[in-house]
Amino acid sequence: MPDILVVGSLNTDLVVRAPRFPQPGETISGEDLQVIAGGKGANQAVAAARLGASVSMLGRVGKDNFGDFLLDNLKSNQVDTKLVQRDGASTGTATVIVDTNGQNSIVLSGGANGKVSPADVNAASFPDFKLLLLQLEIPIETVFSAAERAKENNLRVILNPAPAKQLPDGLIALTDFVIPNESELSLLTGIEIKDVATTEQAAQVLLERGAKNVIVTLGSKGALVVSDKQATYVDTFKVNVVDTTAAGDAFIGGFATALLQDQSLEASVRYGCACGALATTKFGAQPSLPTKEEVENFLNQSPITNL
Ligand code: ADP
Repeated sequence: MPDILVVGSLNTDLVVRAPRFPQPGETISGEDLQVIAGGKGANQAVAAARLGASVSMLGRVGKDNFGDFLLDNLKSNQVDTKLVQRDGASTGTATVIVDTNGQNSIVLSGGANGKVSPADVNAASFPDFKLLLLQLEIPIETVFSAAERAKENNLRVILNPAPAKQLPDGLIALTDFVIPNESELSLLTGIEIKDVATTEQAAQVLLERGAKNVIVTLGSKGALVVSDKQATYVDTFKVNVVDTTAAGDAFIGGFATALLQDQSLEASVRYGCACGALATTKFGAQPSLPTKEEVENFLNQSPITNL
């Protein structure tokens, strides 16, 4: 049975590059449409599977072509799809326009992701898994119920609070690791993140609200681990950045995979940083997620920043 259960979203990203954003009522021509598998849940599932973890995805897609596309994509990445249901609602989509400056404008349609329910979670056999990965692109009551089931069955729980929203303390207390980026941490705690001191202060607030460990991803600055009132900075790697999309998803997939191999907390964060850094060197979300071999080669060759 797979080690990691991901309860979360599956989206098809529809991406068009255009010279600029159209005005209301205007039609402009863009480049050829790119159809890319996405959704934070599926991205993290694929991230961990490419690193050699055995992963199962729980979620919903529509009975449409995009649903077929997403299921095929998970299968070709060796992610188990038995717990992905077909729903009467449309498959979740993100319609993305990217302009020549690399700015994007996105309309999300959650579709079938909004139907993932606590009953779906109850259909999964939690004792078969070791670790649960959660994000916030499905209903919060479903996230809560998955975290409860996981704790009852001694799974480790990782919560990536993205996209950022307010969370009940009860949910935070069910987690072993909360992994926000800086803007998510700011929204979760109401603290403006300006520097090292405010980042640590905000992470501390999450500990006080029941989190056991908080890992703040800091982009090119690496990550901050806060547990038991101790704060440790872990450096990331110097890379030529092409596109930072899915760096956080790669980090989480890598961190979870290393943790399951009994690596220490700090070594797991460093492995996550290598995965996040590598993901920034390629365009797109899932196409940029590195394989186990790519990370191993990279770690054998890379100088670590600031060390
Ligand atoms: P998100 O994509 O969720 O906003 P971050 O931007 O914090 O998350 O990136 C996640 C991780 O990926 C970081 O902790 C870091 O290890 C790595 N990373 C992101 N951007 C860079 C970068 N420019 N250079 C090196 N590593 C990076």
